[in-house]
This record gives sequence, C-alpha cells and structure tokens, in this order.
Amino acid sequence: MLEYKGEVTSWRNAVRRHQREGVEGHTFLFGLSDGRVIDGSRDGNSARWLNHACAPNCETIKDEGRIFIDTLRAIEPGEELFIEYLLAIDDPASEEARTQYACRCAASGRRQSMLADAA
Ligand SMILES: [Zn+2]
Repeated sequence: MLEYKGEVTSWRNAVRRHQREGVEGHTFLFGLSDGRVIDGSRDGNSARWLNHACAPNCETIKDEGRIFIDTLRAIEPGEELFIEYLLAIDDPASEEARTQYACRCAASGRRQSMLADAA
C-alpha cells in the first residue's frame, strides 16, 4: 500500500501557491474530507503521478488526514495504476467545470468525469 504524501494545507493556500508559481498542467492536490488538501508538489512521492480513470484499478483510503492507495485487483507487471479522482470543486455543474474535468477514458457507462459530484 502506498501513501499519498505531501504537505497538508488549505485549498486556498494551495491554489494561491500554484497560481503564483505558474505551474502548468499537473496539479498535485488531493482533497481531504475536512476541507484541507495534501499538496504532492511539496514533499510528495510517486503517488502524485497516479492518473484518473473512471474504472480504476486502485482505491484511495482516507485515514485521519492521510491518504493511502491500495490496489483493487492483481496488477500485471508494467500495468499503469489508476485512481478515481472524485474532485470536489465549488461549482461542479457549470459548463466550464464539466469541460475542464471531463474524462475521455474508454470506460463505457461510467460518469466520464473526474468530479465527485458530476451527475
Ligand atoms: Zn473516464
């Protein structure tokens, strides 16, 4: 089992830092249920490179402010690991959010979104 490591901070702080540093593309923020995030760009480990899939082969386990990644089934050598992001954002129903966080993976019949609240 792999821990998702990084600095625990507030969403506001993490987003402000991300914007200030002008990092393109990847963000490494994992939302905690208490409203804070784990910022994998600070003291993070390889878990931050896990990509999203709507039919993931790993699950995320939340345990008192820490996140662990565990496999859901046997993984073949060289097989890429995926988790379901279930991102929480302010306005998941907006057109912009739907477009930005849409998922184009091949898992048919799934939600095709990285958002937790997408219909
Ligand atoms: Zn997908």
